[in-house]
Amino acid sequence: MAEIQLRKISKRWGSFVGVDSFDLTIADQEFLVLLGPSGCGKTTTMRMIAGLEDATEGEIWIGDRKVNDLDPKDRDVAMVFQSYGLYPHINVYENIRFPLKVRKADPATHDERVMKAAEMVELTDFLHRKPAELSGGQRQRVALARAIVRKPSVFLMDEPLSNLDAKLRVSTRAQIKNLSHELKVTTVYVTHDQIEAMTLADRVVVMKQGIVQQVGTPTDIYDMPANTFVASFIGSPAMNLMEGVIEGGTFRGKNVEISGLQASDGEVTLGFRAEDAEVADGNGQVNAPLYTIELLGDATMLTVRAGGQLVSVKAHKEFRAEIGDMVSFSVPTDICHLFDTATGARIG
Ligand code: ATP
Repeated sequence: MAEIQLRKISKRWGSFVGVDSFDLTIADQEFLVLLGPSGCGKTTTMRMIAGLEDATEGEIWIGDRKVNDLDPKDRDVAMVFQSYGLYPHINVYENIRFPLKVRKADPATHDERVMKAAEMVELTDFLHRKPAELSGGQRQRVALARAIVRKPSVFLMDEPLSNLDAKLRVSTRAQIKNLSHELKVTTVYVTHDQIEAMTLADRVVVMKQGIVQQVGTPTDIYDMPANTFVASFIGSPAMNLMEGVIEGGTFRGKNVEISGLQASDGEVTLGFRAEDAEVADGNGQVNAPLYTIELLGDATMLTVRAGGQLVSVKAHKEFRAEIGDMVSFSVPTDICHLFDTATGARIG
């Protein structure tokens, strides 16, 4: 069992708080993704789990052991970084074998274990090459094989795909998901890419400035963002957010009126996603001039100028209009998100 418990862990350097009271239990075999913009404390959280950084406060448990005072090598975790960390002078086979030698695993088992790991990441044809003779994607797979070969209880992965081109990222991402499922290893994965987070995670932790904003399944986070930060960070394009006032069930923003809301009166920020808007033939709730039109293949993405801001609206794939044409759309009130304008917190 490799459940990880982070009990109110914080990291401070002087008065600067890098991670603030992070409190979470990561289930055995869970795939947990830490997501947030640059500098929000993702890597620091992971480095504390690995033992590369001491927690200023709080306890870290892996399985039934408190590990705060254990060296990284005694924590039974394997790390994969964006810079692959391979040894340039030895071949792929020896790179994968390296952790077994360091950990003094029974030499009689080395060959079988290296070959199995190489097979899992489809590297058996490259075992005699040196890292310099491999592509970026192949190098990243060597780094993965080197993590797998040890059979650790925990995988820690820090942006492992960020040096790969877009196509390789997608295929390696699928491979990582498949591996973690097959190996049944608890995985903590750091990324600033929300698509990676949504596709890989059992649960996502969204962080901002060292503080956890929301923990939930990808669906929870997409459908019920806890605040405007999460709402605008998850989803592409970002959720449309409009400030305004609700009076008698009608939202009034700048030149935008949406009626039929079941909400109490007051200042709110109303949110809706591009795909939830319904483009209508001139009789929608909102009429706004077209700013750009992008053909996505399976749909057409419209950006309109509504009430002094740009708003994204998804239309069907045959939809066509010229820039400046009026676009008419409605927002079904049951899918609107409401946030407190002052705090950003979700209110409905
Ligand atoms: P990125 O996506 O850019 O890697 P991150 O979310 O992983 O960002 P961290 O590397 O965890 O962010 O850093 C969190 C904050 O702590 C940042 O503001 C960073 O500048 C600060 N920080 C990190 N290491 C130190 C250090 N050794 N001393 C002081 N501040 C640090």
